[in-house]
Amino acid sequence: MSTLVVQTDRILSNLEAMRKHTNVPVIPVLKGNAYGLGDVAVARLLKEKADVHLFAVSRLEEAARLKEALPDEEIFLLSPYGTEKEAEEIIRLGLTATVGSYGSAVLLNGLAEKAGVRCKVHLKFDTGLGRSGFLPEESEKAVQAAKYLKNLKIAGCFSHLSNCFGKDEKGVTAQLDRFQKCIAALKNAGVEPGICHIAASNGAILYPSARLDAVRCGSALLGRVGVKNRLGLQKVGRLESPIADVRWLPEGHNVGYGNTYTTRKPARIATIQTGYADGLFLQKVRDAFRTRDILRDGWHVLKVLLHRPGLHCTINGQPVPLLGRVGMCTVVADVSDITCSAGDMASFDANPLLINANVERVYL
Ligand SMILES: *Cc1c(COP(=O)(O)O)cnc(C)c1O
Repeated sequence: MSTLVVQTDRILSNLEAMRKHTNVPVIPVLKGNAYGLGDVAVARLLKEKADVHLFAVSRLEEAARLKEALPDEEIFLLSPYGTEKEAEEIIRLGLTATVGSYGSAVLLNGLAEKAGVRCKVHLKFDTGLGRSGFLPEESEKAVQAAKYLKNLKIAGCFSHLSNCFGKDEKGVTAQLDRFQKCIAALKNAGVEPGICHIAASNGAILYPSARLDAVRCGSALLGRVGVKNRLGLQKVGRLESPIADVRWLPEGHNVGYGNTYTTRKPARIATIQTGYADGLFLQKVRDAFRTRDILRDGWHVLKVLLHRPGLHCTINGQPVPLLGRVGMCTVVADVSDITCSAGDMASFDANPLLINANVERVYL
């Protein structure tokens, strides 16, 4: 059976690296089950070992799960929710909510009043991502909400960058500018904006001016960022699966579906019961169809082909190549040059986000 090994010391050292690099508080973003690491486990780890008491997630059910596991910690829901039922749940659980429209502010305020509480919120501004939040030209509405809805407690203001892979500094500056204007509108009206934040991992790494009062980091904690890793962030996540069987194949024998590999000499092979079913070697699909993105993708594919890295795993500390195609539940490694036997562990670099949720997470 496969397990996903989560190196907790790496998560902690990645957090520390981001704290040192940015010099502001880091709000861990644990959406998507903490990018596959396991949200409750990671929240507990960060609380106990890194003194973190504020955790951000995207979905209400994630927030509910974390609040149940860690009732004394602040859980910040990054997405705006619009129905009465959801708003009631936010109040009932005592979450820190995101407010991105006047309507949802009124709704949340009314329910908070009814429950006799003040609901902590961060105001969200859409400075260019086009998903949610007050548009800068609607800042006045955010001001009204903050000023007159007394059962909302403004704990912060935030926005999200749309393009921070290092190639669009102008765009980042423009978004930052718009965000600052929104904050200024609040301040001018006598509203204390709380902590202001706009950068996620990439923005926090690349742009000092975007760090503001805090940064929100998810991928940096896994050491799997979309920009050059200048901080020595360490990749978290290895899939481990035992060797099921070891045997010899003669020269000229096929390995795997599609007959894409034939042995050139007698080969000792290990079969390992993992593959696509566990999420191994799954890749993100292309989701942009602009000509320039397709060309960029094509160039990347060409570079990979020229480099011919092949797939590999590590057995008893030795890297070994995989032969033929990856299967649903079987991969084959060439172990002609190493000593190993059935039961030894094969270990694969694996992005936890892509690893099947049924694969057990083991925390080292
Ligand atoms: C996902 C997300 C983040 C974290 O992004 P990373 O690039 O993984 O650090 C931060 N803020 C918001 C609003 C997000 O949705």
